[in-house]
Amino acid sequence: MDSEALPTLQHSNTPLLLFSDYHMHPQGHRVQRYTQELLQPWANSARSLGLRDIAFTDHDRYHLGIEFDELNRLRERNPDLRIRAGIELDNDPVHSPAGRKWIEKNWDKLDFVLGSVHFLERADQMFDSVPDGAGQFEHRNIDEMYADYFRRVRQVIATGLVDALAHLDLIKIHGHRPTENIGTFVDDTLEFIRARNLAIELSTAGWRKPVNELYPSDPIIESAIKKEIPFTTASDAHSHVQLGENFARLTDKMAEIGIRRVCIFEKHKGVQVPLQL
Ligand SMILES: [Zn+2]
Ligand SMILES: [Zn+2]
Repeated sequence: MDSEALPTLQHSNTPLLLFSDYHMHPQGHRVQRYTQELLQPWANSARSLGLRDIAFTDHDRYHLGIEFDELNRLRERNPDLRIRAGIELDNDPVHSPAGRKWIEKNWDKLDFVLGSVHFLERADQMFDSVPDGAGQFEHRNIDEMYADYFRRVRQVIATGLVDALAHLDLIKIHGHRPTENIGTFVDDTLEFIRARNLAIELSTAGWRKPVNELYPSDPIIESAIKKEIPFTTASDAHSHVQLGENFARLTDKMAEIGIRRVCIFEKHKGVQVPLQL
């Protein structure tokens, strides 16, 4: 591994080293059966970025593409990487019931399940589609939408099938803000996360969306730190070229906030690993 190419911290004496990306979509936005041709470029990207621990987390509606044998072959071909079998469980009213059943059936083969809310009242459109999803927020009470969103997050947690929450404040994606302090909407959810011993991700995807802000926002991160909720690091890459996107920036952010450990998962068991070199 070339240490010159690794992200280093500029604002602290103690460098941090991010080494894991736990949110990646090799299938992108359609079913594409796992093959070495599909997956190997992701392993190559990870290696070139200095990432050593990665989790594939395709959307549950594409579960038919996931092949555990192909993941095992990929592990054999890339013994220097830890490659986790994962999935992103959505709250898709049409497809996620089948996704939940698939997760239950394959629980022991999976290392990691992300829980997500992409759907509000409309069953036919993810509210986080850009730009069309912003239409769902027009002429609406934004506080009520935030409350509804976090209620749905708690429903995903209550399935008992998730290890970590993805993009916890995705509701802000188009830039709509509640009138009250975010804590009013999120505290019960963080308590629930803590009680269930789940992690939340620090997702750089927010920096490429209209809101242009890390998921989750600083007050949520600070509250999660107080509650001792562990964090994963994530790019939500939908192409291998997006893998580890903005991780140097995330490194700075984590140092500034004081997060010095990340959580990794094997067969749903989370372990916190120090980030110092
Ligand atoms: Zn998502
Ligand atoms: Zn995702």
